[in-house]
Amino acid sequence: MTFIRLRGKGVSPGIGMGELSLTEPVLFSVRKESISPAAVEGELRRLKRAVERTENELLQLKREVKGNMGEEHAFIFDAHLLILGDRTLFESIEQTIRKEKVRAEWALTQVNQKYQELFDAIVDEYFRQRKSDVSDVLARVAANLVLKKKRTIKNERKKQEVLVAHEMLPSEAAVRLSAGNVLAVATDMGGATSHTAILARSLNIPAVVGLHNITQQVKSGDFIIVDGTDGEVIINPPLAVRKEFLGKKEKYDHYYRELKKTAKLKSVTLDNVRFFPLANIELPDEVEMAFSFGAEGVGLFRSEFIYLQSPSLPKEEDHLAAYSRIAKAAYPAPVYIRTMDIGGEKSLPQLKIEKEPNPALGLRAIRFSLKHRDLFRVQLRAIIKSSTLKNVRVLIPMITEVEEIGEVKRLFEEVKQELEKERVKFDRQIPLGVMIEVPAAAAITDILVREVDYLSIGTNDLIQYYLAVDRSNEFVSYLYKPLHPSVLRLIRFIIQTALREGKDVAVCGEMAADPLSALVLLGFGLRKFSMNPIFIPRIKNTLRSVELRTVEQVVEEAMNLKTAQDVEELIIERILVKHPKAFLMGQVM
Ligand code: PEP
Ligand code: MG
Repeated sequence: MTFIRLRGKGVSPGIGMGELSLTEPVLFSVRKESISPAAVEGELRRLKRAVERTENELLQLKREVKGNMGEEHAFIFDAHLLILGDRTLFESIEQTIRKEKVRAEWALTQVNQKYQELFDAIVDEYFRQRKSDVSDVLARVAANLVLKKKRTIKNERKKQEVLVAHEMLPSEAAVRLSAGNVLAVATDMGGATSHTAILARSLNIPAVVGLHNITQQVKSGDFIIVDGTDGEVIINPPLAVRKEFLGKKEKYDHYYRELKKTAKLKSVTLDNVRFFPLANIELPDEVEMAFSFGAEGVGLFRSEFIYLQSPSLPKEEDHLAAYSRIAKAAYPAPVYIRTMDIGGEKSLPQLKIEKEPNPALGLRAIRFSLKHRDLFRVQLRAIIKSSTLKNVRVLIPMITEVEEIGEVKRLFEEVKQELEKERVKFDRQIPLGVMIEVPAAAAITDILVREVDYLSIGTNDLIQYYLAVDRSNEFVSYLYKPLHPSVLRLIRFIIQTALREGKDVAVCGEMAADPLSALVLLGFGLRKFSMNPIFIPRIKNTLRSVELRTVEQVVEEAMNLKTAQDVEELIIERILVKHPKAFLMGQVM
């Protein structure tokens, strides 16, 4: 067992240690699990049931997609149904179970591998690409095998493990990380604002990304320590190192508990200026956790996880259930529901959307919604229906030009009228706002803000597009600087323009969760800071420890500096002298 220490990027703080589980980039990878000869028939029956369930699922998906999006999008399911009906394929799986006396999951994995190799040998590019359809179908069958297990075996405790992967699809991350048995995550790829990182932070799972080739250096079953605070990963450590990290873990866990106590304190600066910590959440179940950390509302609900978690297209009822759940739990605090941000790194597996050469600049977010209006309508209906308590607000992502707002407003009004005709109760005044994530939108803040009720600055994307730095590419992450003077000028312009127009403005990117950046934002006039809930206590501590007047002076001075580093140094130096407690908790993270 080789002892290895690796450095990556810590994207979710804390320390997790335990048995390593290496995940393949497909959804159904499993460890080899043997069964007794007497269990073979039962296993074959289990496989059969999973195939039947998969068939029903595919038929249902086909119907839904055909209804929502037309015949041309539904044909893929015919292909998948054909694969599912392929006797040769399933006979090989059955044979593997019989001969090797293994569980169906493992047999599926083996046969999938064989098929991938067969397809790789095909010269024709089109047919070679069909291999992903085989994987897709087999993954679905595998998921249905597991589903059965989850439903019938009550109180079964899943093995606690540390997940190691090359990278994780957002849908895969949602499924795996929310399962409750993941101690930590480490991946080859990814950056701090990749969705796996965001989700890990939401669920308080320590994570290190950007490890380049950890998957090639480890195997399942190794012992691994993931230090998400310092960005370090240690494989098969000697006893002394294990002890050292156990101590570190204890200290961190203690600090984390202390930090949570700030949740009950008032959100005011030393000179009594009120600010509002809000939560970014991905899953409805996170809302209670968010409030326990001191959130005073949900500043961003990333609704696309509703699509990514469900095997078929979510129906209006599915949307409504999620939104109402959050609105009720948060009431009377506000909840900003962001309409789907599909596209980019978040594809929609149910729709088999064509790959785009440059997805970050492609059919993403509101662009996707306006193209797929039937889907968008379903979501808008549900959001509006969930507004009966009058605390629901709508947030539109990735607005680039004012015409898009016009389109959204028209559709919004149409849907409201439709619901009125149906005599559905809802908040007629449900507010509508947009996210500023595209530099072009930022430059016309004055024009856009007059069209809507409020703005929310999505700094994760805004910085990525403004600095031309891919937010999840670790090769250029050194250039991703929220304190870059040009970013600061742009953000100051957005905030001050919105405030001048008498409109509300929030920041909902990760920048709001960084103590230094949060101080700068406070100095610009920002009062609404929306972030991953686990960072709320830290930011609350920072903002509670300072005097607005001092911060404003320092930030004003910082605007004349040339580099992000100069800005950082000035703020630390000047604020620390006057308000030593401001970074007390920031340092540990
Ligand atoms: C952002 O871009 O800052 C944002 C909050 O949206 P997301 O991270 O979901 O793209
Ligand atoms: Mg964004």
